Amino acid sequence: MLTSGGDAPGMNAAIRAIVRKGISVGLEVLGVQRGYAGLIGADFLQMGLSSVADVIQRGGTVLHTARSEEFRAPEGRARAVENLRRHGVEGLIIVGGDGSFRGAQALGAAGVAAVAIPGSIDNDIYGTELSIGFDTAVNNVVEAINKIRDTASSHERTFVIEVMGRDTGFIALYAGLAGGAESILIPEVPFSLDEVCDRLVRGRDRGKRHSLILVAEGVGSGIAVGEEIRRRTGFETRVTVLGHLQRGGSPTATDRYIASLMGARAVELLVEGRPGKMVGMAGGGVVERDLTEVIGRKKEFDPALYQLALTLSV
Ligand code: ADP
Repeated sequence: MLTSGGDAPGMNAAIRAIVRKGISVGLEVLGVQRGYAGLIGADFLQMGLSSVADVIQRGGTVLHTARSEEFRAPEGRARAVENLRRHGVEGLIIVGGDGSFRGAQALGAAGVAAVAIPGSIDNDIYGTELSIGFDTAVNNVVEAINKIRDTASSHERTFVIEVMGRDTGFIALYAGLAGGAESILIPEVPFSLDEVCDRLVRGRDRGKRHSLILVAEGVGSGIAVGEEIRRRTGFETRVTVLGHLQRGGSPTATDRYIASLMGARAVELLVEGRPGKMVGMAGGGVVERDLTEVIGRKKEFDPALYQLALTLSV
C-alpha cells in the first residue's frame, strides 16, 4: 500500500486497517514509503500487526507522501512495476486523490492489480460522499470559526477567513453552514462583493454584532476580499488565512471510521480479484466504483445546500 498526493488526516487509520485486515486473511503486507517515489526507489517496509499500533489517532501519514514527476513517465513506471514484480507484490492499494488515481490506472494498464481509496481534505473526488481528511479539515475550520466569533463579537468586527479549496468550495460550504458564516465565497457560485457588502450592512442594521465571511482560496485572496469590504463599507475588517492548520491534528471519529471501512474493503477487493476500483462512501456504507468512472469527473455541487447556508445565516 502507499499514500500519495496531499496528506490527509485519517490516512493512518486506512493504513492500519489495510495492514490488520490483510494479515487477518493471511496476506503479507508491505508499506511503500513516499508514494510513487518510493515505488520507483523500492522503498518498501514489511508491515506487521504492531507496526500500526498507536497510529489511528495521528494526523498525516506514517508512510509519508510525495509527488513524483518520474512516475508520470513510462520509464519511471516501468521501474515501479519491476520493483513490485521482484518483491512478489500481487496487489497495490493507493490512498490519494485524482492524480494518484491516474497513477493507479496507469499501473493497472501495466498489469498491476490496483485499488484506490479517496484521501483528500477537499472532498473533491467523484463517486464518494466523503474522502479521508475532509471531516477533520471541516472540524478544524469550525473550531477556528468558534474562536474568531468570540473576539469578533467582543469588538463588533467583520472577519474574513480564507480556507483551502483551489477548485472546489466543499470545505468552505460545510464549515460555513456548520459555523454560521454570513457569506461563503466559493468557486462554484459566482458572487458579487456588492451583495456581500449589502448583507453585512443589513446585518449590522438589524443589530448583528459581528459577521464572518468564508472565502475558499480558489476565488482569490482573503486579504484582498477583506480590504475591498473595508473600503466599501468602512467596517473594521480582519482577515485570517487558516492555511495548513486545516490539514493537521488528530483525525475525527468520522475520518477514522470511513478510513477503517474503506481500508478493509480495499483488501477484500484485491483478495476477490477485482482490481481497478475505488472504494467510497455513499448512503452511510462502503461502495465500489470503477476507477475509469471516477477519474477526471467533477464532483456534483449541491446549490440547495449553498442556499440553505445563506438562508440560515441571514
Ligand atoms: P492527488 O493524488 O492528491 O491528486 P497529485 O495530482 O499531485 O495529487 O498526484 C500525485 C502523484 O500521482 C503525482 O506526483 C504523480 O506521481 C502521480 N500522477 C498524477 N497524475 C498522473 C498521471 N496522469 N499518470 C501517472 N501518474 C500520475
